[in-house]
Amino acid sequence: MKKNKMLYRIVAAVLACAVVALALVTYQSRSSSNAPVAEGAVTATGSAKGMEGDVVVEVTADATTIYSITVKEQNETQGIGSVVCEQLPDTMVAANSYNVDGIAGATVTSDALKEAVKAALTSAGLDASAFAVAQTSDAAVEKTAESLDCDVVIVGAGGAGLTAAAQAAENGAKVIVVEKMPIVGGNSLKATGGMNAADTKYQEALGITDSGVDEFIEDTMNGGHQINDRSLVTVMAEESSDAVDWLDAIGAPLPKVAATGGTTHKYLHEPEDGSAVGSYLVEKLNAQAEKLGVQIMLNTEATEILTENGAAVGIKAESKEHNYTIHAKSVILATGGFGANFDLMASFNPALANAVTTNHAGATGDGILMAEAIGADTVDMDQIQIHPTVEANTAALITEGLRGDGAVLINAEGKRFIDEVGTRDVVSAAEIAQTGSCSWLVVDQAMVDASSVIQGYIKKGYTVTGQTYEELAKAMGVDEAAFAETMKTWNGYVAAKNDPDFGRTSFAKALDTAPYYAIKVTAGVHHTMGGLKINTNTEVLKADGSVIPGLFAAGEVTGGVHGANRLGGNAVADFTVFGRIAGAAASKYAA
Ligand code: ADP
Repeated sequence: MKKNKMLYRIVAAVLACAVVALALVTYQSRSSSNAPVAEGAVTATGSAKGMEGDVVVEVTADATTIYSITVKEQNETQGIGSVVCEQLPDTMVAANSYNVDGIAGATVTSDALKEAVKAALTSAGLDASAFAVAQTSDAAVEKTAESLDCDVVIVGAGGAGLTAAAQAAENGAKVIVVEKMPIVGGNSLKATGGMNAADTKYQEALGITDSGVDEFIEDTMNGGHQINDRSLVTVMAEESSDAVDWLDAIGAPLPKVAATGGTTHKYLHEPEDGSAVGSYLVEKLNAQAEKLGVQIMLNTEATEILTENGAAVGIKAESKEHNYTIHAKSVILATGGFGANFDLMASFNPALANAVTTNHAGATGDGILMAEAIGADTVDMDQIQIHPTVEANTAALITEGLRGDGAVLINAEGKRFIDEVGTRDVVSAAEIAQTGSCSWLVVDQAMVDASSVIQGYIKKGYTVTGQTYEELAKAMGVDEAAFAETMKTWNGYVAAKNDPDFGRTSFAKALDTAPYYAIKVTAGVHHTMGGLKINTNTEVLKADGSVIPGLFAAGEVTGGVHGANRLGGNAVADFTVFGRIAGAAASKYAA
């Protein structure tokens, strides 16, 4: 009996080792060239810091050739950095260089991988600079024509596209999504705040009774300077609670409720653990779409909408290897905005020709241009939002939620200069008027402890810090006494719930838990409020008000929801509510 037990233990231990070994093996992604490894080639490892710790690679090379790259260790964000670790080694081996184009949207991991390969080459005793220039193959790739069929084809796999895909598939449609970038998520991936919603079960549980649908509509209309399409705003507000429940049902709950800039009440729904809402939702929506059998084609760019008798009946798209004709019964455009298309932005506002932008590289307005080519109308194209808290060195977006949670903005003179939770246009204008057109966003340790988002900013090196207000002021390079005085005064205002200087009415906690942190921020292009004109059923409209049959659109590609200024938290409300409506309407049309 004892012997049997021992045997059992040995077998169990061996099995456990095998499972761990298997896990490690499947964890590695290896890319090898076709060239046989020459005698004298050396294998060495190298590492560099990624988003979530070290990226470790093993490289086999000699003085002239990189034969293989194996990613041995990485803990990068699933679906973003992990994609870099799967795809970039191939590109590097093919180019015989570490210096290849990184994957947009995942630059930190891309750079880490390049540095790690460079380090491995050096540690192999090779001259890494011999691999600094990528070799391109002259052989033109002959693209093959492919024809595909589905019920609903969706262009863009950001928040709106993935939501529409999950909803359409849930309603029984066969769905194909094309995404031109190597990763899903678009600008949605960068959303760090939350989702505005009214009359939700989470608000009710917290006793928030003054943030109803009517207040949400009025806040959004006021935030948008009353030029929003009220019918779209009404639908967004009315359907927002249902959308929160739907997210719950697919395993993406947003149970935390907070305030955000420009709203009088608490609508902002966030993930429980305080993680960034964008990557959280994109990951869950992507998983849900895949679970329901949606085919998501990455690196595939839609170029044209196919029509028959004026109705949309599919798209043309291209990848590196194929020219696709995708026949569909209906088409959903979810291509996002044009905040990375400087020519297009400058055609509406010449001052933005060289602006800083928070947008991902794929935000080039393709859906707007493709739909215009078949007669679609646009609205509010000149309404381009500037966000006041863009990290000054990297153009990374710093979430507005922090100001809602109690952070203050400090100018070069060590003073506050505006109600920090005002609308983005007002806060941006005030910031641009300050010395150097930038400011410092200040938080304390208590806020850091409560927010994994701020912890991420610290990890990424965005912050300066100090044990006292004076020490922090020194690190910021602002007047120490003036800053300390500002902070003490502010903490008094929080206690009294009264800001006689700038009329701020949202008070969280005093910023009095050391150490203190500050992020240098500036104003940058953030959201393009204008876009395709749609009705409340997400059908794309022509200038005469008639619909283009079979063509639907949702998310930042559309205009009218946000008017002249989008409130923080309303991009996610927009893409979930209208993404669901588009998915349902397009699948119904296709049935
Ligand atoms: P939204 O919030 O409206 O979903 P996002 O910016 O999050 O907007 O997502 C839009 C997505 O559409 C991005 O991932 C972008 O790369 C993709 N996209 C834009 N143009 C095209 C195109 N021509 N073909 C395929 N995908 C596109």
